[in-house]
Amino acid sequence: MPAIWERVWTGWKFEELAFEIFSLYIDSNEIPSKDLKDIVGRSYSTFRAPDVTPLVTLDQEKQLYLLELFHGPTFAFKDVALQLLGNLFEYFLLRKNGNKPESERDHLTVVGATSGDTGSAAIYGLRSKKDVDIMIMFPEGKVSPVQEAQMTSVLDKNVHNVAVDGSFDDCQDFVKELFGDADIRRTHQLAAVNSINFARILAQISYYAFSLGRLFQDGRITAHSKVRFVVPTGNFGDVLAGYFAKRMGFPIERLVVATNENDILDRFWKTGYYEKKPIHGQQANGGFVQDGVKAHEDGVRETFSPAMDILVSSNFERLLWFLAFQVYGEGLKTVEEKRAEAGKRVKGWLHELKTKGGFGVESKVLEAAKMDFESERVSNKQTIGMIKQQYTAQIPAARKDASTGTAGATNHGKYILDPHSAIGVAAALRSIERAPPPGTTHVALATAHPAKFSKAVEKALENEKDFQFRDLLPEQFIGLEELEKRKYHFEKSEGIEGLRRFIREQVKARSNSDT
Ligand SMILES: *Cc1c(COP(=O)(O)O)cnc(C)c1O
Repeated sequence: MPAIWERVWTGWKFEELAFEIFSLYIDSNEIPSKDLKDIVGRSYSTFRAPDVTPLVTLDQEKQLYLLELFHGPTFAFKDVALQLLGNLFEYFLLRKNGNKPESERDHLTVVGATSGDTGSAAIYGLRSKKDVDIMIMFPEGKVSPVQEAQMTSVLDKNVHNVAVDGSFDDCQDFVKELFGDADIRRTHQLAAVNSINFARILAQISYYAFSLGRLFQDGRITAHSKVRFVVPTGNFGDVLAGYFAKRMGFPIERLVVATNENDILDRFWKTGYYEKKPIHGQQANGGFVQDGVKAHEDGVRETFSPAMDILVSSNFERLLWFLAFQVYGEGLKTVEEKRAEAGKRVKGWLHELKTKGGFGVESKVLEAAKMDFESERVSNKQTIGMIKQQYTAQIPAARKDASTGTAGATNHGKYILDPHSAIGVAAALRSIERAPPPGTTHVALATAHPAKFSKAVEKALENEKDFQFRDLLPEQFIGLEELEKRKYHFEKSEGIEGLRRFIREQVKARSNSDT
């Protein structure tokens, strides 16, 4: 039995297990163990729950559990990865810079675009870190008030919030343009925090392992149980970490990809076609335009679960690579040949995606994808219905250790799901129909605290007499809107020249004020 198993089954703490997993992939020549342990410890000390990512029993009979990933500083699961990433950036810079004078120090400018959660999680991961500036661009008026307040109330000098008079895609385009811009790269070393950053994926493997360990310790599963994880999915980062956990050998029978109405991934698993607009995979409830749903011209729908409103998932090509390796590499002799073949296939698919808006895979590739995954699409209406249904079901309150201070999300013994987590639970209930207890145990991932997404929660529970939204608010949210804020406005029309100028001025002003 590999050592890591013993750690999982013998009840290691989250931090200990995370350290053990990261150590498998981070060479101790790169980061000495003692330092890595310290980084991991600091990264998860900011979480409010003693278990870091506690498990809640949602339905004992159905063997359905909820893995709460939202006990970090910004109340969404992205903290699990970005707290670590911030400390890693800082570590490498400090090591390089030592006590050098300001003029000789290496300096990093982290840039990112956000439609909500990534921005605040990245800002909380990097605030006040030495030798790093962080600039987050977001579409003015299009992120939720709580999300905006979480970002703009961070007044540390190295944090630069930039509201753009445009869409999320405009922000994203600016970030991409910056990375390709020779002029800014001549003076500034840029770094990214988006979800394809591999350190983020690595960090997320830890909670799959940790929750399996907890279930085992509590006698809910044995080493031979079938366990399914159900993951509310947008850019495919979270569920990809689950896939890597499975490939590492953790006993995961299947991963269930749960999408909202932006369902490109669900259509892939149902039809084998990955298309921006559904041509081959028509949904039961109609085509692309639906009453009361705003669709952008590029095809992204605005739903109650905005963090999953994506047209194309940037991490999905990583899975495609593994599938191609497995399927088309079969007849080839060396690993190098297999890799080259996988790379060629993925390149071809992505080329079709770009030029034709989609591609289809051969049935053997789809079959391979179905060995590890299933998928579900949960509509807006079903999302609201699920929040309500779960609220009405009295559950044995959250585990005691999960309810200290932050109270998971219980209200008088009732559980309140955020809309993203509700999509996971709705998908889990469907998966349970296909793979019922006692044979199979389900773990749905809860990716955000419901107070972050008031619109959906208030709509779902508007007729519940004992429900008051303000009872749900964590203390950290109270008065958030009144705090002092700082943000900059950036006009799209100023273009890349304007943005370059802005970055240079901001970083210079910050470093002057430091010394
Ligand atoms: C980012 C996010 C997701 C989607 O995660 P991916 O890794 O992009 O699939 C789901 N829920 C919430 C609350 C998020 O912030």
